[in-house]
Amino acid sequence: MHRILRVKDILFLIVLTIITSCSTDENIVNVYSGRHYQTDEQLFREFTRETGIRVNLVKADTDQLINRLELEGVNSPADMFITADAGRMIQSMEKGLLQPMNAEVIRQLVPANLRDPNFYWTGFTKRARVFVYDKSRVNPDELSSYEELTSEKWAGRVLVRSSQNHYNQTLMASIVAAHGQDGALDWAKGIVHNMAQSPRGNDRDQVKAIAAGVGDVAIVNTYYMGLLLNSPNSEERNIARQMGIFFPNQNDRGTHINISGAAITAYAPNRDNAQRLIEYLLSPGAQSVFAEQNYEYPANKNVAWPALLKEWGRFNPDTIPLDQLGKHLQPGMIIFNQAGWN
Ligand code: FE
Repeated sequence: MHRILRVKDILFLIVLTIITSCSTDENIVNVYSGRHYQTDEQLFREFTRETGIRVNLVKADTDQLINRLELEGVNSPADMFITADAGRMIQSMEKGLLQPMNAEVIRQLVPANLRDPNFYWTGFTKRARVFVYDKSRVNPDELSSYEELTSEKWAGRVLVRSSQNHYNQTLMASIVAAHGQDGALDWAKGIVHNMAQSPRGNDRDQVKAIAAGVGDVAIVNTYYMGLLLNSPNSEERNIARQMGIFFPNQNDRGTHINISGAAITAYAPNRDNAQRLIEYLLSPGAQSVFAEQNYEYPANKNVAWPALLKEWGRFNPDTIPLDQLGKHLQPGMIIFNQAGWN
């Protein structure tokens, strides 16, 4: 009897060991990503070829992934979280969903304004939120800043997507940081007053609305212009060629930039693999793929820009550390509501 029990105990231990080693499989990294680009999947495959570490990718809407991480808690299989917005990275950190990364490599490659000061997240690509305008109807000399877009001369001519959009929420946080809540409310009211139509569609749709004559100037992220200029659809390419790109606020704080960011989740079973993947995404080769194929700016300061990004021109970015925008996100949402920016 005594002997049988001991055999049972040993069997139990063996089974337990197998279960444990499965959940911390050394050759896997589980990624929850709010980004949906071909570049990412291509780079994950390349990472697997180089390291033997399989990337198990879960793609969903960023807010759904944040909810999922909260619900799963300590049992979450996620090792790494990716999102296309600094605001959502900050909120995830504040909810306790992230843990600090090893700082050594990231500190060397990524400028301080593009990452969390305690390395809970880092940007791995950079985007500029610029003006796109119809070259036949707008002289770029008339354009200057996000603020100037509220002047009466732009009444009925401005296109911008909904305030539910993360890019606009983080842009708003930067306006609150620059002007305070009262100033930001005035700005939002001025933009709403000048809108060509009530917000609808994504950034790409704003550019198409210019081409359709709905409005003359749109607030969009630069990489959408890269995607349109290189679209397999000839109509999209033609639309993009009619458009100019203008970097606002070059005479004061600079153009608002946002990041796509990566982080290690709080309970990552494969923490080291997540760290390796983040460092891989920051490597010159991966950075060039993001820049050449998705038209995003490299976050790695040592990586050169490809031709199209150079053609759009050098610009002064708003250098406020992105982590400082976190405290302005909630007030910004209230301001959007008050201004009637749906
Ligand atoms: Fe986007």
